[in-house]
Amino acid sequence: MAVATINKAYRLASREGHPQDTVVRVGNLVIGGPQFVVMAGPCAVESEDQLLAAARAVAARGALVLRGGAFKPRTSPYDFQGLGEEGLRLLAEARALTGLPIITEVTDSEDVELVARYADILQIGSRNMSAFRLLQKAAHSGKPILLKRGFQASIKEWLLSAEYILAHGNDQIILCERGIRTHDCEFTRNTLDLAAVPVLKRETHLPVIVDPSHGTGRADLVRPMCRAALAVGADGLLIEVHPDPTQALCDGQQSLSPDGFASLMSELMVLAPPAGRYVRG
Ligand code: PEP
Ligand code: MN
Repeated sequence: MAVATINKAYRLASREGHPQDTVVRVGNLVIGGPQFVVMAGPCAVESEDQLLAAARAVAARGALVLRGGAFKPRTSPYDFQGLGEEGLRLLAEARALTGLPIITEVTDSEDVELVARYADILQIGSRNMSAFRLLQKAAHSGKPILLKRGFQASIKEWLLSAEYILAHGNDQIILCERGIRTHDCEFTRNTLDLAAVPVLKRETHLPVIVDPSHGTGRADLVRPMCRAALAVGADGLLIEVHPDPTQALCDGQQSLSPDGFASLMSELMVLAPPAGRYVRG
């Protein structure tokens, strides 16, 4: 007689016990359904002018969620750290202007309540994938959570981090592949592990998106990796777009211009239907 046990360490995240896809709902937006969801905006919120220009540009070209970091987890303490709560206020202003829901990173468990007051989706960054107290607090906020892969994390460790959120009562989780540390930094910042997408689609019911900006570190590689992400079954993308990438305070070299984003979106609109998806025009 078959015994109905779930053999996976990540029993709630596993498809074994939950064969149907989980979809994440943000207002009317559904992530993990037939619509290929593009989230876009600057790496960091820098100023009102910068953010509103980025927000208008991505909204006009079919992005469905606006991204922007207010609390930036920078490798160096001397780099721009983000505008903090002022950045959150600007994101709320951009949401009011464009109607786009906003995703922004929370880097510390003490900031979860504050960030959750403004954000529609909480982003947990690569450096914090294993910050278990942060995962628990974020789960309890009741907000959808985008969980990035730690840049040194295995897929199993990543799923166990998602398991923390599920075990704390929140199943509104989007997994985001953003590249893993590479031995060859000459041409790319990270190795974008696109094989993780079909692996995750088999292993878990949670939606999966791809961040080709951090995944490659180079604006010219973003578009080919977006095509690839769509082809391997990702549910969407997280992309950095800056009104003037040459002036960006953070990650300008991997940010698309508004024109670059526009041509990417036109291409995705054509490529989505053969991949069984659609991209809003
Ligand atoms: C980001 O998306 O702004 C970011 C900091 O990415 P990651 O956590 O993947 O480095
Ligand atoms: Mn960035």
